[in-house]
Amino acid sequence: MKKLSYGHQYIDEEDIDAVAAVLRGDWLTQGPAVEAFEKAFAEYLGVYHAVSFANGTAALHGAYFAAGVEEGDEVITSPMTFAATGNAALYLGGKPVFADIDPGTICLDPAEAEKKISPRTKVIAPVSFAGYPADIESFLSLARSCGALVVEDACHALGASRGNSSVGKEADMTAFSFHPVKHITTGEGGMVTTDSPRLAERLRLFRTHGITKDPEKMTGTPHGPWYNEMQVLGYNYRLSDIHAALGLSQLSKLDNFVRRRKAIAALYDSLFGDVPGLTVPPQSDGHSYHLYPLQFPAAERGAIFARLGEEGIAGMVHYPPLHLHPYYRERFGFKEGDFPLAEEFYGREISLPMYFGLTDEDIRRVAETIRQIMERED
Ligand SMILES: *Cc1c(COP(=O)(O)O)cnc(C)c1O
Repeated sequence: MKKLSYGHQYIDEEDIDAVAAVLRGDWLTQGPAVEAFEKAFAEYLGVYHAVSFANGTAALHGAYFAAGVEEGDEVITSPMTFAATGNAALYLGGKPVFADIDPGTICLDPAEAEKKISPRTKVIAPVSFAGYPADIESFLSLARSCGALVVEDACHALGASRGNSSVGKEADMTAFSFHPVKHITTGEGGMVTTDSPRLAERLRLFRTHGITKDPEKMTGTPHGPWYNEMQVLGYNYRLSDIHAALGLSQLSKLDNFVRRRKAIAALYDSLFGDVPGLTVPPQSDGHSYHLYPLQFPAAERGAIFARLGEEGIAGMVHYPPLHLHPYYRERFGFKEGDFPLAEEFYGREISLPMYFGLTDEDIRRVAETIRQIMERED
């Protein structure tokens, strides 16, 4: 029985050769491959700046820093996300402020986000959940109304678009992840895109300890050609050339990857769309389907998940709502019922297998297995 998981990388010989070429060369850490990857990534999305990071979490940390998040500042985001979206605010002494989702998009609801705006709001961080492009226009106008910036967490949404605009172009900054289950992988890796030279500069400073070697940026007089200055508290968040070579090679396949993901979603939609009790993911032409989150009757979800596992189909549940993790409960006093729509979605969701290497036959097997389980459960 072929085992299926909810996500998996696709690596070919071209990718392997690209990494091997770096290993045979002189540069291992940030060097020419990083520069080439950043340039190609920016060109792909049509943005001025793409700044790579060691992972998507570091990319979010850098974006919040560049946006000016400091002790006590607030970042409004969705509880229906991976922990990193909230944690990155905590790393800076900031405070994640949650607002509930719109069940029609499974993304942060702009109307709910508006209610959470305060004088401390520095960032609004919508998550383009599963690859569905969040309503960025509304978040931008909200942010403009209160002097905040929009950092889109697009770790699910590489290759997604809004009309003619790629996700990554519209928000003040957009964060991506290259974890193996994401659209393209570097093993571990991340990127922030922006059109602002000022923000790009802050991002680059932050990922290299806060140290600059650029004489024009020095605040003191250089002691000599060796001189460098640490100006802010940054981190070592560099991507290596080994990772970047893989990323560059993967990027050349991204169109193909996204096309296949959309075809897989269309096939699932056609197989589940008319099954009573099931809710297929929200539709959008620009959806890039990192995940295929299918909603089941809440009472049956657990049993269905377990039965799928027995049939060799390892789904995943995205996500235990962030505010209900013990750390968040204890630190901020969150409890069940605080964000009922996110909690309800969590209670019904299973992410089905969704990755480039899936065959149509695999997808039909997943659908058939679910049909059989549901008939038996009834
Ligand atoms: C994957 C992911 C991240 C973090 O990315 P890493 O590269 O694993 O650090 C952040 N937010 C969301 C929504 C993600 O899916």
